[in-house]
Amino acid sequence: MKIEIIKCLEDNFSYLLIDEVTKTAIVVDPSESKPIIDKIESLNLKLKFILNTHHHYDHVGGNKELKKLYDAKVIGFDEDKHRIPEIDICLKNNEIWKDGIFEAKVFHIPGHTLGHICFYFFKENILFSGDTLFSLGCGRVFEGTHEQMFNSLQLLKNLPSKTEIYCGHEYTLKNSDFCLKYDSENSALISKIEFIKNQLAKGQPTIPTTLEEELKTNIFLRSKNVENFSKLRDLKDNF
Ligand code: ZN
Ligand code: FE
Repeated sequence: MKIEIIKCLEDNFSYLLIDEVTKTAIVVDPSESKPIIDKIESLNLKLKFILNTHHHYDHVGGNKELKKLYDAKVIGFDEDKHRIPEIDICLKNNEIWKDGIFEAKVFHIPGHTLGHICFYFFKENILFSGDTLFSLGCGRVFEGTHEQMFNSLQLLKNLPSKTEIYCGHEYTLKNSDFCLKYDSENSALISKIEFIKNQLAKGQPTIPTTLEEELKTNIFLRSKNVENFSKLRDLKDNF
């Protein structure tokens, strides 16, 4: 499985997962259709599925057009089927979805939205975390409670440490300012910031990150209890 990172809108990431043998592909969180179509055409692929982590427009904006153009099936969370545009296949918490070489486990990780899910491709150890876990940050708690978000992050923390994380936005540099303010002595964080600045200077994404790195540097993953997490989340909201 090959992964193409596609920048969309202001700072969104969509991901194209490719089976290079059959030339088929699936897309995760298409914010808009145009850059996805361009990539699919340039690589001569056939789009089979559209995976959505949650219903926000910057994650589903391309659903309708891509479905129409490629006859692709839209996949999302069963409990959120009323607000995932064009949904065809509804998945439940802990369900394993499989098609050809693509095989992922779904986890319900509420907090950012109530119906947020992530896709964990366990064979490759790759996680698509949407707007729940970012590099050096986590999503805003829009619909759920701080406790739900904290628990969702605890669930992700228990994945293998080598897990590669592909998230929904390029927020890493902005997030690093916050981490540094409250964790200024963290040497792993300081060297990660070097790396981030280098990547961005080259016009490269700071994604993927790994769980191992995030456990060392991401202040939200490092918070030990809900109280501490809530305090940090409030501070970040007003940062
Ligand atoms: Zn969102
Ligand atoms: Fe988003």
